[in-house]
Amino acid sequence: MLTYFNQAHVLHAAPYEYFRGDKVVAFEKPERADWVASRLRERGHVIHSPDVDALQVMGQVHSERYLRFLFTAWQQWTALAPGNAELAPFPSVWPVRTLRDDLEPDNFTAKLGLYSMDNGAPILAGTWQAVKGGADATHAAALAVAHCKAPSAFALTRPPGHHAGADFMGGYCFVNNAAVAAQTLLNEGAQRVAILDVDYHHGNGTQSIFYERSDVLFVSIHGDPLTEYPFYLGHVEETGQGEGAGFNVNLPLPAGASVEDWFAALDHALARISAYAPDALVVSLGLDTFAGDPISKFALQPDDFSILGRRLAKTERSSVFVFEGGYACVHLASNTVNVLEGFELTLL
Ligand SMILES: [Zn+2]
Repeated sequence: MLTYFNQAHVLHAAPYEYFRGDKVVAFEKPERADWVASRLRERGHVIHSPDVDALQVMGQVHSERYLRFLFTAWQQWTALAPGNAELAPFPSVWPVRTLRDDLEPDNFTAKLGLYSMDNGAPILAGTWQAVKGGADATHAAALAVAHCKAPSAFALTRPPGHHAGADFMGGYCFVNNAAVAAQTLLNEGAQRVAILDVDYHHGNGTQSIFYERSDVLFVSIHGDPLTEYPFYLGHVEETGQGEGAGFNVNLPLPAGASVEDWFAALDHALARISAYAPDALVVSLGLDTFAGDPISKFALQPDDFSILGRRLAKTERSSVFVFEGGYACVHLASNTVNVLEGFELTLL
Protein backbone atom coordinates (compact mmCIF):
# COMPACT_ATOMS: atom_id res chain seq x y z
CA MET A 1 0.00 0.00 0.00
CA LEU A 2 1.15 3.54 -0.73
CA THR A 3 2.72 4.59 2.57
CA TYR A 4 3.80 7.97 3.88
CA PHE A 5 6.32 7.46 6.67
CA ASN A 6 7.11 10.14 9.21
CA GLN A 7 10.83 9.61 9.75
CA ALA A 8 10.87 12.41 12.36
CA HIS A 9 8.93 10.12 14.70
CA VAL A 10 12.22 9.02 16.33
CA LEU A 11 12.59 12.50 17.82
CA HIS A 12 9.84 11.66 20.31
CA ALA A 13 10.98 8.83 22.58
CA ALA A 14 9.55 8.99 26.10
CA PRO A 15 12.07 7.65 28.64
CA TYR A 16 9.37 6.10 30.81
CA GLU A 17 5.67 6.17 31.66
CA TYR A 18 3.49 5.46 34.66
CA PHE A 19 1.57 2.18 34.43
CA ARG A 20 -0.53 0.71 37.23
CA GLY A 21 1.28 2.91 39.73
CA ASP A 22 4.73 1.91 38.55
CA LYS A 23 7.34 3.87 36.58
CA VAL A 24 8.04 1.59 33.60
CA VAL A 25 9.79 1.67 30.22
CA ALA A 26 7.40 3.40 27.82
CA PHE A 27 5.24 1.04 25.72
CA GLU A 28 4.90 3.70 23.01
CA LYS A 29 8.43 3.69 21.58
CA PRO A 30 10.15 4.45 18.25
CA GLU A 31 10.73 0.79 17.40
CA ARG A 32 6.97 0.41 16.86
CA ALA A 33 6.94 2.44 13.64
CA ASP A 34 10.36 1.21 12.51
CA TRP A 35 9.26 -2.43 12.74
CA VAL A 36 6.23 -1.68 10.58
CA ALA A 37 8.34 0.24 8.04
CA SER A 38 10.80 -2.68 7.79
CA ARG A 39 8.00 -5.17 7.31
CA LEU A 40 6.41 -3.01 4.58
CA ARG A 41 9.76 -2.76 2.76
CA GLU A 42 10.30 -6.52 3.00
CA ARG A 43 6.90 -7.04 1.43
CA GLY A 44 7.64 -4.62 -1.43
CA HIS A 45 5.38 -1.73 -0.45
CA VAL A 46 6.34 1.76 -1.62
CA ILE A 47 7.29 4.13 1.20
CA HIS A 48 7.45 7.91 0.72
CA SER A 49 8.45 10.76 2.97
CA PRO A 50 5.78 13.45 3.26
CA ASP A 51 6.53 16.62 1.30
CA VAL A 52 3.51 18.69 2.34
CA ASP A 53 2.73 21.03 5.24
CA ALA A 54 -0.29 20.14 7.40
CA LEU A 55 -0.19 23.24 9.60
CA GLN A 56 -3.27 24.86 8.10
CA VAL A 57 -5.34 21.66 8.50
CA MET A 58 -4.02 21.18 12.05
CA GLY A 59 -5.46 24.63 12.77
CA GLN A 60 -8.87 23.49 11.56
CA VAL A 61 -9.09 20.64 14.08
CA HIS A 62 -7.03 22.01 17.00
CA SER A 63 -7.29 25.31 18.85
CA GLU A 64 -4.76 27.99 18.09
CA ARG A 65 -3.67 28.39 21.72
CA TYR A 66 -3.08 24.63 22.08
CA LEU A 67 -0.93 24.44 18.94
CA ARG A 68 1.01 27.51 20.07
CA PHE A 69 1.68 25.84 23.42
CA LEU A 70 2.76 22.57 21.79
CA PHE A 71 5.10 24.44 19.44
CA THR A 72 6.78 26.39 22.27
CA ALA A 73 6.44 23.98 25.21
CA TRP A 74 9.98 22.57 25.18
CA GLN A 75 11.46 26.05 24.83
CA GLN A 76 9.34 27.29 27.74
CA TRP A 77 10.31 24.31 29.88
CA THR A 78 14.06 24.51 29.28
CA ALA A 79 14.05 28.29 29.84
CA LEU A 80 12.87 27.71 33.42
CA ALA A 81 16.05 25.98 34.66
CA PRO A 82 19.27 24.76 33.01
CA GLY A 83 18.76 21.19 34.23
CA ASN A 84 15.31 20.90 32.65
CA ALA A 85 16.79 19.79 29.31
CA GLU A 86 17.56 16.45 30.99
CA LEU A 87 13.98 15.98 32.21
CA ALA A 88 10.61 15.29 30.56
CA PRO A 89 7.83 17.44 31.98
CA PHE A 90 4.86 15.30 33.05
CA PRO A 91 1.67 17.17 33.99
CA SER A 92 0.72 17.04 37.64
CA VAL A 93 -2.26 19.38 38.04
CA TRP A 94 -5.46 19.64 35.98
CA PRO A 95 -8.43 22.06 35.78
CA VAL A 96 -11.11 19.51 36.68
CA ARG A 97 -14.70 20.39 37.67
CA THR A 98 -15.24 23.81 39.32
CA LEU A 99 -11.82 25.05 38.10
CA ARG A 100 -11.42 27.42 35.15
CA ASP A 101 -10.01 26.27 31.83
CA ASP A 102 -10.85 29.37 29.81
CA LEU A 103 -7.81 31.33 31.02
CA GLU A 104 -4.31 30.24 30.12
CA PRO A 105 -2.14 30.65 33.24
CA ASP A 106 1.42 32.03 33.03
CA ASN A 107 2.92 29.17 35.03
CA PHE A 108 4.33 26.40 32.80
CA THR A 109 3.15 23.51 34.99
CA ALA A 110 -0.34 25.01 35.03
CA LYS A 111 -0.34 25.37 31.24
CA LEU A 112 0.88 21.81 30.83
CA GLY A 113 -2.03 20.56 32.95
CA LEU A 114 -4.51 22.80 31.12
CA TYR A 115 -3.58 21.17 27.80
CA SER A 116 -3.38 17.55 29.08
CA MET A 117 -6.04 14.97 29.91
CA ASP A 118 -3.56 12.75 31.82
CA ASN A 119 0.17 12.23 32.40
CA GLY A 120 0.54 9.92 29.41
CA ALA A 121 2.00 12.37 26.90
CA PRO A 122 5.30 13.78 28.17
CA ILE A 123 6.88 16.55 26.09
CA LEU A 124 10.47 16.10 24.90
CA ALA A 125 12.93 18.17 22.88
CA GLY A 126 11.76 16.65 19.57
CA THR A 127 8.07 16.19 20.31
CA TRP A 128 6.87 19.04 18.10
CA GLN A 129 8.96 17.91 15.11
CA ALA A 130 7.71 14.33 15.56
CA VAL A 131 4.03 15.20 15.81
CA LYS A 132 4.21 17.82 13.04
CA GLY A 133 5.90 15.22 10.81
CA GLY A 134 3.07 12.82 11.66
CA ALA A 135 0.42 15.33 10.67
CA ASP A 136 2.33 16.00 7.44
CA ALA A 137 2.48 12.26 6.65
CA THR A 138 -1.24 11.92 7.33
CA HIS A 139 -2.04 14.99 5.25
CA ALA A 140 0.05 13.54 2.39
CA ALA A 141 -1.77 10.19 2.58
CA ALA A 142 -5.17 11.91 2.55
CA LEU A 143 -4.16 14.14 -0.38
CA ALA A 144 -2.98 11.10 -2.35
CA VAL A 145 -6.37 9.44 -1.88
CA ALA A 146 -8.31 12.66 -2.52
CA HIS A 147 -6.45 13.21 -5.79
CA CYS A 148 -6.92 9.57 -6.83
CA LYS A 149 -3.19 8.75 -6.84
CA ALA A 150 -4.22 5.53 -5.11
CA PRO A 151 -7.49 4.04 -3.81
CA SER A 152 -5.93 3.82 -0.35
CA ALA A 153 -2.90 5.08 1.54
CA PHE A 154 -1.28 4.50 4.91
CA ALA A 155 0.09 7.16 7.24
CA LEU A 156 2.81 5.42 9.25
CA THR A 157 3.62 7.64 12.16
CA ARG A 158 3.91 7.85 15.88
CA PRO A 159 3.16 9.09 18.49
CA PRO A 160 -0.48 8.14 17.83
CA GLY A 161 -3.27 10.71 17.70
CA HIS A 162 -6.78 9.56 18.53
CA HIS A 163 -6.78 10.58 22.22
CA ALA A 164 -5.76 14.16 21.37
CA GLY A 165 -8.71 16.57 21.39
CA ALA A 166 -9.02 20.04 19.90
CA ASP A 167 -7.07 21.54 22.80
CA PHE A 168 -5.48 18.74 24.76
CA MET A 169 -2.92 15.93 24.60
CA GLY A 170 -2.99 12.62 26.47
CA GLY A 171 -2.67 8.85 26.14
CA TYR A 172 0.58 9.17 24.09
CA CYS A 173 -1.23 11.51 21.64
CA PHE A 174 -0.58 15.17 20.76
CA VAL A 175 -2.08 15.90 17.32
CA ASN A 176 -5.14 14.03 16.11
CA ASN A 177 -3.96 12.53 12.84
CA ALA A 178 -7.31 10.88 12.02
CA ALA A 179 -8.94 14.31 12.29
CA VAL A 180 -6.23 15.79 10.05
CA ALA A 181 -6.97 13.06 7.47
CA ALA A 182 -10.75 13.61 7.60
CA GLN A 183 -10.45 17.39 7.40
CA THR A 184 -8.02 17.12 4.48
CA LEU A 185 -10.47 14.92 2.57
CA LEU A 186 -13.27 17.44 3.22
CA ASN A 187 -11.06 20.35 2.15
CA GLU A 188 -10.32 18.52 -1.10
CA GLY A 189 -13.97 18.10 -2.01
CA ALA A 190 -15.45 15.22 -0.01
CA GLN A 191 -18.94 15.99 1.29
CA ARG A 192 -18.97 13.30 3.95
CA VAL A 193 -16.15 11.34 5.60
CA ALA A 194 -16.49 8.40 7.98
CA ILE A 195 -13.85 7.62 10.58
CA LEU A 196 -13.72 4.05 11.87
CA ASP A 197 -11.59 3.65 14.99
CA VAL A 198 -10.60 0.02 15.61
CA ASP A 199 -8.01 0.70 18.32
CA TYR A 200 -8.66 -1.12 21.62
CA HIS A 201 -9.10 2.25 23.32
CA HIS A 202 -11.91 4.66 22.54
CA GLY A 203 -10.85 7.57 20.32
CA ASN A 204 -12.10 10.22 22.69
CA GLY A 205 -10.17 13.00 20.97
CA THR A 206 -11.61 12.23 17.55
CA GLN A 207 -15.14 11.93 18.95
CA SER A 208 -14.89 15.27 20.72
CA ILE A 209 -13.46 17.10 17.69
CA PHE A 210 -16.36 16.06 15.44
CA TYR A 211 -19.13 15.67 18.04
CA GLU A 212 -21.19 18.59 16.74
CA ARG A 213 -20.55 18.00 13.03
CA SER A 214 -22.53 15.99 10.51
CA ASP A 215 -19.87 15.97 7.76
CA VAL A 216 -17.83 13.43 9.72
CA LEU A 217 -19.36 10.20 11.05
CA PHE A 218 -17.28 8.76 13.89
CA VAL A 219 -17.66 5.04 14.67
CA SER A 220 -15.55 3.30 17.31
CA ILE A 221 -15.20 -0.29 18.56
CA HIS A 222 -13.36 -0.38 21.87
CA GLY A 223 -13.02 -1.72 25.40
CA ASP A 224 -15.88 -0.62 27.67
CA PRO A 225 -14.83 2.70 29.24
CA LEU A 226 -16.35 1.65 32.56
CA THR A 227 -13.19 -0.43 33.02
CA GLU A 228 -10.87 0.51 30.13
CA TYR A 229 -8.86 3.64 29.26
CA PRO A 230 -9.77 6.46 28.50
CA PHE A 231 -12.61 5.82 30.98
CA TYR A 232 -14.51 9.10 30.68
CA LEU A 233 -15.89 8.83 27.13
CA GLY A 234 -16.97 6.11 24.69
CA HIS A 235 -20.42 5.02 25.90
CA VAL A 236 -23.31 3.94 23.66
CA GLU A 237 -25.50 6.91 24.54
CA GLU A 238 -22.96 9.40 23.15
CA THR A 239 -24.53 9.85 19.71
CA GLY A 240 -23.52 13.40 18.80
CA GLN A 241 -24.92 16.82 19.53
CA GLY A 242 -26.60 19.68 17.66
CA GLU A 243 -25.71 19.45 13.99
CA GLY A 244 -23.79 16.26 14.83
CA ALA A 245 -26.73 14.44 16.48
CA GLY A 246 -26.80 10.87 15.16
CA PHE A 247 -23.29 11.01 13.69
CA ASN A 248 -21.35 9.44 16.55
CA VAL A 249 -21.52 5.69 17.13
CA ASN A 250 -19.82 3.95 20.05
CA LEU A 251 -19.67 0.16 20.16
CA PRO A 252 -18.01 -0.69 23.48
CA LEU A 253 -17.28 -4.34 24.28
CA PRO A 254 -16.34 -5.78 27.65
CA ALA A 255 -12.65 -6.44 28.29
CA GLY A 256 -12.04 -10.05 27.28
CA ALA A 257 -14.73 -10.02 24.55
CA SER A 258 -14.46 -12.84 22.00
CA VAL A 259 -13.25 -12.48 18.42
CA GLU A 260 -16.81 -13.33 17.27
CA ASP A 261 -18.24 -10.47 19.30
CA TRP A 262 -15.59 -8.12 17.94
CA PHE A 263 -16.41 -9.00 14.32
CA ALA A 264 -20.14 -8.69 15.04
CA ALA A 265 -19.43 -5.13 16.23
CA LEU A 266 -17.41 -4.55 13.05
CA ASP A 267 -20.36 -5.68 10.91
CA HIS A 268 -22.57 -3.24 12.79
CA ALA A 269 -20.03 -0.44 12.29
CA LEU A 270 -19.66 -1.12 8.57
CA ALA A 271 -23.45 -1.21 8.08
CA ARG A 272 -23.75 2.20 9.73
CA ILE A 273 -20.91 3.56 7.59
CA SER A 274 -22.52 2.15 4.47
CA ALA A 275 -25.82 3.84 5.33
CA TYR A 276 -23.97 7.16 5.73
CA ALA A 277 -22.53 6.71 2.20
CA PRO A 278 -19.29 8.63 2.81
CA ASP A 279 -17.07 9.82 -0.01
CA ALA A 280 -14.07 8.44 1.87
CA LEU A 281 -13.15 6.40 4.92
CA VAL A 282 -10.44 7.09 7.51
CA VAL A 283 -9.37 4.10 9.60
CA SER A 284 -7.79 4.80 12.97
CA LEU A 285 -5.71 1.65 12.80
CA GLY A 286 -4.86 0.52 16.31
CA LEU A 287 -3.41 -2.98 16.53
CA ASP A 288 -3.81 -3.36 20.30
CA THR A 289 -6.88 -5.57 19.79
CA PHE A 290 -4.32 -8.38 19.32
CA ALA A 291 -4.53 -11.21 21.88
CA GLY A 292 -0.86 -10.73 22.77
CA ASP A 293 -1.00 -6.99 23.38
CA PRO A 294 0.53 -6.14 26.78
CA ILE A 295 -1.92 -3.36 27.75
CA SER A 296 -5.22 -4.46 26.18
CA LYS A 297 -7.77 -7.25 26.57
CA PHE A 298 -9.27 -8.32 23.23
CA ALA A 299 -8.38 -11.57 21.49
CA LEU A 300 -7.72 -11.03 17.78
CA GLN A 301 -5.19 -13.39 16.18
CA PRO A 302 -2.82 -12.56 13.26
CA ASP A 303 -5.22 -13.99 10.64
CA ASP A 304 -8.04 -11.87 12.05
CA PHE A 305 -6.18 -8.74 10.95
CA SER A 306 -6.24 -10.02 7.35
CA ILE A 307 -9.98 -10.59 7.71
CA LEU A 308 -10.37 -7.04 9.04
CA GLY A 309 -8.56 -5.70 5.95
CA ARG A 310 -10.78 -7.75 3.64
CA ARG A 311 -13.98 -6.58 5.35
CA LEU A 312 -12.88 -2.95 5.14
CA ALA A 313 -12.19 -3.34 1.41
CA LYS A 314 -15.74 -4.55 0.87
CA THR A 315 -17.01 -1.09 1.85
CA GLU A 316 -15.52 0.00 -1.53
CA ARG A 317 -14.52 3.40 -0.16
CA SER A 318 -11.36 5.36 -0.81
CA SER A 319 -9.53 4.82 2.45
CA VAL A 320 -6.81 6.46 4.50
CA PHE A 321 -5.27 4.27 7.20
CA VAL A 322 -3.69 6.07 10.15
CA PHE A 323 -1.40 4.18 12.53
CA GLU A 324 -2.58 4.39 16.16
CA GLY A 325 -1.83 2.01 19.08
CA GLY A 326 -0.47 -1.54 19.30
CA TYR A 327 2.32 -2.57 21.64
CA ALA A 328 3.03 -6.27 21.05
CA CYS A 329 6.66 -6.18 19.87
CA VAL A 330 6.88 -9.37 17.84
CA HIS A 331 3.51 -9.26 16.10
CA LEU A 332 2.81 -5.55 15.70
CA ALA A 333 4.40 -5.20 12.25
CA SER A 334 2.92 -8.35 10.74
CA ASN A 335 -0.55 -7.61 12.13
CA THR A 336 -0.43 -4.11 10.64
CA VAL A 337 0.67 -5.35 7.24
CA ASN A 338 -1.96 -8.12 7.38
CA VAL A 339 -4.69 -5.46 7.54
CA LEU A 340 -3.22 -3.40 4.70
CA GLU A 341 -2.59 -6.41 2.43
CA GLY A 342 -5.98 -7.93 3.24
CA PHE A 343 -7.50 -4.65 2.10
CA GLU A 344 -5.42 -4.28 -1.06
CA LEU A 345 -5.67 -7.90 -2.20
CA THR A 346 -9.46 -7.75 -1.92
CA LEU A 347 -9.53 -4.70 -4.17
CA LEU A 348 -7.52 -6.43 -6.92
ZN1 LIG B 1 -4.98 1.87 22.04
